[in-house]
Formats: sequence, structure tokens, C-alpha cells
Amino acid sequence: MTSEGNETQPIIRVQEVTRVYRVDSREIPALRGVDLAIGPGKVVALRGRSGSGKTTLLNCIGGLDRPTSGQVWFEGKDVTRQPEGAWVNLRRRRIGFVFQSHALLATYTAWENVDLMLRLAGVRRRERQRRTEEVLTLMGLTKWREHRTFELSGGQQQRVAIARAIAPRPALILADEPTGELDSATGQQILTLFRRIADRDGTTILIATHDLAVDAFAHEVYHLEDGRIVDEHSGSFAKAVTIRLERGKGKEEGHVP
Ligand code: ADP
Ligand code: MG
Repeated sequence: MTSEGNETQPIIRVQEVTRVYRVDSREIPALRGVDLAIGPGKVVALRGRSGSGKTTLLNCIGGLDRPTSGQVWFEGKDVTRQPEGAWVNLRRRRIGFVFQSHALLATYTAWENVDLMLRLAGVRRRERQRRTEEVLTLMGLTKWREHRTFELSGGQQQRVAIARAIAPRPALILADEPTGELDSATGQQILTLFRRIADRDGTTILIATHDLAVDAFAHEVYHLEDGRIVDEHSGSFAKAVTIRLERGKGKEEGHVP
């Protein structure tokens, strides 16, 4: 039950996070004090040029990298210095990653790629079957479920990657340039699916990108420049889309003009 006046707790909170890489005797400041708080069910775009720190920030939030200083909070808990085992657990159950390179198991079928993630999350066989079926259907991949992923197109592979990330029903999905290698129609399709997952399941989705098109699907947009957030505004997520979602709930593939 939600009660009014009860502030929703952010799912992620990043406080004064810095990350300095040391290469030989040089110091490369990739993040220079980042603060942000993101609520549940939000689609957030993290925009910035190549080298601005997007990947570093996602990795610090998902525990693939550690901040040099500052704190990362996940679901109200300071996770910054938690041991690797706790991170592994979080990533199996609460945080899904979608990488530009998909990182799928090429010789596994679409079905097996999803099923494996559910096994890692400790989901039992019958429930795995149900959920694998469900997410592959949601991603429009029913026809391709028995295909090994190397046989699939870039867009199909990206949809398998998303299916795999959402199957364990994570609270947070971190997507690093998920539309980077896709044509714009496929990219829009992927963004529509992200938006649908956020609206349907309350999943928070943080998308690092230099793709302007992402703004149209985001609730909030953060701009990174040289490791700092220099601007923050609401997404241009068109009112037209909201209206259509309300009108046509559950309809296939909302195409955003
Ligand atoms: P983006 O994802 O926005 O392109 P990155 O987070 O990859 O940016 O990189 C931010 C800065 O940190 C860049 O200057 C990059 O060269 C540097 N950097 C990233 N990863 C490493 C690393 N492993 N070692 C040294 N420098 C790195
Ligand atoms: Mg990057």
C-alpha cells in the first residue's frame, strides 16, 4: 500500500562519488564528485560524450568498479564497501546489466541464455520455465527461442540481452549504450520495451548513452561532462506517449513519433 506524504525512497543514491584511475604515475579522474538519487520505476538517461565517465559511473553503481571516494546506496543500504560476494548476490537478484556488446553466450539458445540467469538467481525449474517464456514473449522473441544467439541479428541479440536482464525481476537495470549498435528503428523498439518494463514492473532503468533519442523515453536526463553532472532535467518523454499508453495499455510496440 502506498500512503500519501510517504516519500518514496530512492533505489539508488550516489553521494560525492569520485573515481580516479592510476595509470603508471598518472592520475585520470573519471568521476569528480557525482551526486544523484533515482526513484523506483524511473527511466533515467545518463548522457555525455565518450570519455565523460558514463561507464565508470554505471560500473560503480553496479559494483563492477569501486569509487575512490564517496558512497553508493542501493535500496537504502550503503553498499560502497560491501564484499564482492555480496555484490555478486545483488547482481544475480536485484541488479541487471545490459551491455552494448550483449555479452550473451553465443552457442546457447535465446531460451538457455535467459534460463541460465534464472538459475544463477536461484529460481526453481517450473518458475524458470514460466518466466523465460514470459520475457521472451515480451521481447517478441517467441519465434527465436530455440535459435542460438550467434544466429540472431543485432537487434534480436539486444532483445535477448534485455530479456536476460529482466527475467530475475531486478529492481534496477543498468544499460550501457544499449542502442549504440542498432539502427534507429530497432533502437526505438528497445527503448519502448525499457519504458514498458519500468511502467509495468516498477523497475528502475539507468541508460548510459550519447543517443539523443533516449531523452524521449526518459523521466529524467543527467548530463555528464568530465566526470561531473553538469545538467539535470526531465526527459522530453512526449505526452503523446503517456496518452497512448493509457489508451492502449498492453498493446504491442508503441511507436514513438
Ligand atoms: P564513457 O563511458 O562516458 O565513454 P568512461 O567511464 O569509459 O567514459 O571513461 C571516463 C574516463 O576514464 C576516460 O578519460 C577514460 O579514458 C578513463 N578510463 C576509463 N576506464 C579506465 C581504466 N580502466 N583505466 C584508465 N582510465 C580509464
Ligand atoms: Mg562508456
